[in-house]
Amino acid sequence: MGKNLTSRSEDYSKWYNELVVKSDLAENSGVRGCMVIKPYGFAIWEKMQAQLDKMFKETGHENAYFPLFIPKSYLSKEASHVEGFAKECAVVTHYRLKNAEDGSGIVVDEDAKLEEELIVRPTSETIIWDTYRKWVQSYRDLPIMINQWANVVRWEMRTRLFLRTAEFLWQEGHTAHATRQEALEEAEQMMHVYADFVENYMGVPVIKGTKTESERFAGAEETYCIEALMQDGKALQAGTSHFLGQNFAKAFDVKFANREGKQEYVWATSWGVSTRLMGALVMTHSDDNGLVLPPKLAPIQVVIVPIYKGLDQLDSISEKVDSLVKELRSKGISVKYDKRDTHKPGFKFNEYELKGVPVRIAVGQRDLENGTYEVARRDTLQKESVNAEDVVSKIESLLQEIQENIYKKALDYRKDHMTVVDSYEEFKQVIEEKGGFVAAHWDGTMETEDKIKEETKATIRCIPFNTEKEEGKCMVTGKPSSQRVLFAKAY
Ligand code: AMP
Repeated sequence: MGKNLTSRSEDYSKWYNELVVKSDLAENSGVRGCMVIKPYGFAIWEKMQAQLDKMFKETGHENAYFPLFIPKSYLSKEASHVEGFAKECAVVTHYRLKNAEDGSGIVVDEDAKLEEELIVRPTSETIIWDTYRKWVQSYRDLPIMINQWANVVRWEMRTRLFLRTAEFLWQEGHTAHATRQEALEEAEQMMHVYADFVENYMGVPVIKGTKTESERFAGAEETYCIEALMQDGKALQAGTSHFLGQNFAKAFDVKFANREGKQEYVWATSWGVSTRLMGALVMTHSDDNGLVLPPKLAPIQVVIVPIYKGLDQLDSISEKVDSLVKELRSKGISVKYDKRDTHKPGFKFNEYELKGVPVRIAVGQRDLENGTYEVARRDTLQKESVNAEDVVSKIESLLQEIQENIYKKALDYRKDHMTVVDSYEEFKQVIEEKGGFVAAHWDGTMETEDKIKEETKATIRCIPFNTEKEEGKCMVTGKPSSQRVLFAKAY
């Protein structure tokens, strides 16, 4: 089986789309901008969910579920929120269809018009804060620490599998606090939780920071984010956590009696990561042969392929492999023994390479005689012969090594694509020719940010978190700046 993947250097974007489809992660559907997530892709998403869910619970959150539909009037209560989302909202106007009188098919029944139109949630702050009003009376009712796993709809005009879809799956945390300080700490904490997950499970290095005013979430006072760098030198916003101040509490009249008995508005945060993370995973590690998956998230960590002539040979191989499978499973390793006789070993090798299975074991008649296995790793494509008695411990250490190696490779790429510049000329050249993150001084104004975006397509990805202050001059206007910010072209 030829994989026939377009190479990354030839056309990165084409490579990505082909790879997502050919490796069976997802495909486009009959609905513009909406994808079908296939079992192999969904298995990776489920692993991501399971780990994130665990981390959310460890930091004191509980899961709940709120409605898909939001009354239009709710959305308009928070002015900047509605402004940010109005342009991409799907709206439900009717609740019934009927046969057309002229027999031309099914049409909307005008008699079934909703009194109040409903928005398909693009995010759930409004419906959740309308609910929190009923839940909060006193400081004893706080904090509320809730997460929801759901789908949302944003009518995106330019979509791409996983990275930007009209409907996407995500989690959204929504917390309510008695003090500003506590809410700020929560928003910041979730940025660290996301970074921990993305780096240590996905193997994708990220930069933590805050967004500038123009990139901030609609309705937020501060947006914390993690930014990753893809292999084409473009940045990807991988997760966001918002400090919402008292904006939603004021819009939905959510007050509590504090310890002194005085009424105060509640402080809020919200935070989310989506199926975009699947795109980040693919774009960060994969190569021209297919996916490269981090062992911690791979649905199949080890695949075993028998190489045999005739059923007798297969039987004696299977006998040995069955006990190896048991032993690996008892160590918590997910293993697939692929003894299909409908496909040749070469076909299977290609398939598992395309699907990014971290470790492949091949075993043939000669291995049986010598007491060995051929062990191949997907990240470096290296093969070696391993003694049967060492194979389990070898695989355990290999899985860990692959997890670390792909992270390190991605980190090295990012280090090579982090450029510090002091002039706008140099900036334009690096953005155009090399890509990656560019650290430069900026005067803090939206005008300058807009001008740079217009002229170079680069945006400020973040104001890096906890980095040293450095006095300098804005590369465009020469006005004073106290810290470098990170620019990049982004997805
Ligand atoms: P937001 O609510 O805008 O802060 O977005 C929350 C998370 O969802 C961010 O981490 C985004 O990367 C991700 N996201 C936003 N829009 C989309 C989209 N159209 N498709 C997939 N993920 C998205």
